[in-house]
Amino acid sequence: MRSHLCNRCGSCVGLSGGSVQFVEKTGAYRPTVTGPIDDALAGLLWKACPGKSFDFVENRKRIYPETPNFHTFTGPYFRIGIGHATDGGIRKAGASGGVISAVLIWLLEKKMIEGAVVLGMSADEPWLTQAFIATSREQILEAAQSKYIISSVNEILPAMEAFRGRLAYVGLPGQIQSVRLLQAMNHPSVKNIRYIFGPFYGNTLHFSSITSFLRTYGEKDYRNISRLYFRYGEWPGNMRVEFSSGRVITLKKFHANYLIPFHILRNSLYCTDLTNEFTDISGGDAWAPVYEERGKGFSMIISRSAQGESILQQMISEGALRFSQIDEQEAISMHSHGYDFKKRGGFIRIKFRKMLGKSVPDYGYRPAGFAFSRYLMEIVISSLFILMGTRFARWLVELFPPALIGGIFERTRTIWKKSTYSVKRKKP
Ligand SMILES: Cc1cc2nc3c(=O)[nH]c(=O)nc-3n(C[C@H](O)[C@H](O)[C@H](O)COP(=O)(O)OP(=O)(O)OC[C@H]3O[C@@H](n4cnc5c(N)ncnc54)[C@H](O)[C@@H]3O)c2cc1C
Repeated sequence: MRSHLCNRCGSCVGLSGGSVQFVEKTGAYRPTVTGPIDDALAGLLWKACPGKSFDFVENRKRIYPETPNFHTFTGPYFRIGIGHATDGGIRKAGASGGVISAVLIWLLEKKMIEGAVVLGMSADEPWLTQAFIATSREQILEAAQSKYIISSVNEILPAMEAFRGRLAYVGLPGQIQSVRLLQAMNHPSVKNIRYIFGPFYGNTLHFSSITSFLRTYGEKDYRNISRLYFRYGEWPGNMRVEFSSGRVITLKKFHANYLIPFHILRNSLYCTDLTNEFTDISGGDAWAPVYEERGKGFSMIISRSAQGESILQQMISEGALRFSQIDEQEAISMHSHGYDFKKRGGFIRIKFRKMLGKSVPDYGYRPAGFAFSRYLMEIVISSLFILMGTRFARWLVELFPPALIGGIFERTRTIWKKSTYSVKRKKP
């Protein structure tokens, strides 16, 4: 709980019956012990925590025995493709192609589930996120789009246990890993889950990213926020903040990426799962100029389990989803910078952390054979993360217009993508 290995999945809070809580969600957002914990509860929380360990190899064998394809970068899969929801309203509401929301709505309308665990924004505190069980198309669409601040979906495990009906569950890799651990224990909190879906995951940010962003525009109090969006408007969308005063601030998503090195949750640096490898279906952005130029919204879709593949097939044949299959190499090159960050950088950072005598996560596998130059590059990247995470650097960046800093970051991303393009030809 006190190390950088906590990904804030929220399971310890959800399972603790009130004895563990997130006390400052606008601050460090750490789970804090606030009540009694006996040995049995401590044992359960430890076993359900994916931060310290999650065996990718064992869990893949257990969960995907019938899945024909696998690559260390993509995880197990039946098919990978580019697509989007054919319903224009769903596509527009989604972060990318609206695929995750379309799948949830399809399952609900086919009566294959009665509810979907999703992440919306809080009604009482609209600057914070709030997980809930959506039981209608409108509620699923209300919760569409990515939220880039720390969000602890598994806090609602008790509500999932009490729910009368079958559930689909949407979460980030750490949250899903914990659900998978609980499923292996036959824990009642996850008994209603029939399907698991999830977005790709580069990183997530502390709430300080919002307060810092506001300060650059002269807004001092986040409590004046009436609506907060991270992917508003046409894909790839904009960060958009609406205030009770009527003021609206927007910044291109690619420009808002400048907040990442200043406010990244340190655990993101030790998470090595980009494509959400333990879902039935995962969805990411279709990052390639050919799609980015067209706007409108395109997702990369990965079907992983037999039931995920069956949903995909039915939705395509019924016209609910548009899908063009691509091969593994093309898929990897579209996210080459992301794989470099997670599957090379992530493991090197874990190695550095171990050398400093700190606890490290055990993922059951360790890619080896990175070039010496990649280690050097990681020293530069990690040093930048440390420097840019200081108070001074955060204060300094607030003096510049976000569009200017954002433009520099957008160009850096393009260069990084080009320089990592060869990642697809090498296995780690
Ligand atoms: C923190 C974060 C980091 C991401 N990083 C990358 C990346 O590096 N590369 C990439 O290609 N894609 C990334 N994505 C995924 C991308 O932004 C889209 O979510 C994905 O393409 C699915 O789009 P969609 O239109 O199908 O989803 P939608 O139809 O918009 O549905 C998204 C679903 O995800 C849920 N959700 C949103 N945010 C969260 C959250 N923080 N925690 C749990 N559930 C959530 C919503 O409730 C909704 O059900 C990231 C997403 C998030 C949330």
